[in-house]
Amino acid sequence: MKLIFLGTGGGRFSAINQRRMTGGFRIDNLGGKNYHVDPGPGALVRTYQFGLDPRNIDGIFVSHAHTDHYNDAEILIEAMTRGMTQDNGHIIGAKSVLTGFDKWGPCISKYHQTKSNLIEIESGDVRYFDNCLIKATPTRHGDPVGVGFQMEYKDFKISYTSDTSYFQELVEAHMDADILIASVLRPGGRSIKGHLCSQGFINLLKEIKPKLAIMTHLGLKMISNNPIGEAKRITRITGVKTLAAFDGMSLDINFNNPARARIVSLKDVDAPFHGSNNNLSRFERKNANKLAIKHGETDEFAQMDKRFNH
Ligand SMILES: [Zn+2]
Repeated sequence: MKLIFLGTGGGRFSAINQRRMTGGFRIDNLGGKNYHVDPGPGALVRTYQFGLDPRNIDGIFVSHAHTDHYNDAEILIEAMTRGMTQDNGHIIGAKSVLTGFDKWGPCISKYHQTKSNLIEIESGDVRYFDNCLIKATPTRHGDPVGVGFQMEYKDFKISYTSDTSYFQELVEAHMDADILIASVLRPGGRSIKGHLCSQGFINLLKEIKPKLAIMTHLGLKMISNNPIGEAKRITRITGVKTLAAFDGMSLDINFNNPARARIVSLKDVDAPFHGSNNNLSRFERKNANKLAIKHGETDEFAQMDKRFNH
C-alpha cells in the first residue's frame, strides 16, 4: 500500500494562497484499489503533476462541506466514471456532502452522484465496500455532520481524523489505528476552534499509540514554523513515530511494520511547465502567442482593433 500526499496545506487561508498544495491524499493499492481522500482545490492537477492517473481511482471520500476538502470531487468523479459514461467507483461522504444538511452542501451535484455507489455516513456508521470496512468517526468542526474515518483492510487500520478539535470520543473512535493521519493546523498548544494543534495531536497519540502518525493539512503558522522539527518533537514526547507530510510525499507502507515506511519524494513531472524555469516559460509564452496568431485566434481582437480605428 502507498499513501500519497497531493497537498498538505490546510485551512482556508492556506488554500487560498497555495503556499502548500491542497489536493488531499491517496491511499493506493489497498487490496488492489485506489482511493482519493478529501480532494481540495488542485487535486486533479496535482494528480498529474506527481505522475498519477485520476482514472484509476476506485473511490472518493469527502469528509465535510469545506472547500479545501471537496473542491475537486466532481472532476475526479468524472475521471473515475470516464466522463460520466460508465458506472464505476464509490463516493463516500458525510450527509452534508451528498444530501446537504442545513446550510452545508450538498457539495457534489445530483448529476455527479448518478454513476457511482453512494455511501453516506455519519459518525458511528460501519459500512463495507470492496474488501474494506469503513467506520465513520466523529468530528467537532464547523460542519456539524462532518466525519473522519477508520478504514480496515485485513486487520490493518488506517485512521483519518479530518478537521476536528480534540475531545475524548475522538480517542475512542480512532483507538487501535495502525496509522493515524491527522489534520494538525497549528504548532504548539494554542489551537483555533474546531482544529487540532500539536498539543491536541500529542494527547491523541499518547492514548491511541498508533505505529505511525502523519500530520497533514498544515496551517500557515505550522508551515512557517518548521513542521519537520515539530514532528520530531512530537515523536520524542509521545514515542510514536510522527511524520510531517509534504507535497508529493509517497509512503510505501509495509503492513507488518508501518513505522519503517519508505519515504519517497515524487518528482514533479510538470515542473518545466509550471514556471519554475522562467526562461522556459517566457519562451513558451512567446511561442503560444505566435501559435495563436498563426491559428487566427487573435482575429477577433484584430477586427475589434479595426472597428475602433474607423
Ligand atoms: Zn474544515
